[in-house]
Amino acid sequence: MVSNARNDLVNLIRLQTVYDSIAKLIAERSSPPAEIRELQEANLIRLEELEELERQMEAHKEEIKEVRQKEAEWELELEHFQKQKSTVTNEREFTAVISEIDYATRAIDESSARRQELEESIVQLQQEVTERRESRPEEESAQGDVVTSWAKRKDELVKGVHELAVQAKEIEAEVQPKHRARFLRLLESKQGTAISEVIDGSCSLCHLALRPHLQQRVRRCEEIIDCEFCHRILYIEGNVTQVEDVGADGG
Ligand SMILES: [Zn+2]
Repeated sequence: MVSNARNDLVNLIRLQTVYDSIAKLIAERSSPPAEIRELQEANLIRLEELEELERQMEAHKEEIKEVRQKEAEWELELEHFQKQKSTVTNEREFTAVISEIDYATRAIDESSARRQELEESIVQLQQEVTERRESRPEEESAQGDVVTSWAKRKDELVKGVHELAVQAKEIEAEVQPKHRARFLRLLESKQGTAISEVIDGSCSLCHLALRPHLQQRVRRCEEIIDCEFCHRILYIEGNVTQVEDVGADGG
């Protein structure tokens, strides 16, 4: 029983190292290099700008429809007043009709000018959208090396995590189920660190000073001891391996 607890402790220390390595690889994978982040941001901005240009084009097209509608209405008015002009019977009516015709003509001119302005603007916007779309692949291939090497690195990291996970399973198989379960529970609840080294009589992670009696029990390695404050599994470096070697020879 005594050597079982000690062996478990040795394995749990190894297991913690493996889980630390897994955490490091995962952290690296979720933080792409600055160049990649800049590229992602630049692409996002470029897409937003393209969308904005397309929104402007759509708005212009909508406005053209309205302008055309107004133009058509004013043309009907103009037609009406031109017919009236031929039937006026006095100077006063004539002046009134002429004034209406002037007004309608001006309105038609204004509408047509606005329509032309919008149509020209659409042509320009369309040209800009096309240019921007065409320049994208070029810019992306300029950054291609960075993208490719990051993709490669991510693959390596995933592969590394898988290999380490296999190692972890192998080590876990060596540990008594109750100690393994305790370790894995702590790993989950303590942000990935289930084990804590005792340094100068204190838990190195929560800094609780251990009572002398508890320190002695940790030193003996005959049982798995939790920190009384943070509940992580405690060990004393050197002490575990040193005694374990003796135990292995004895066994
Ligand atoms: Zn602690």
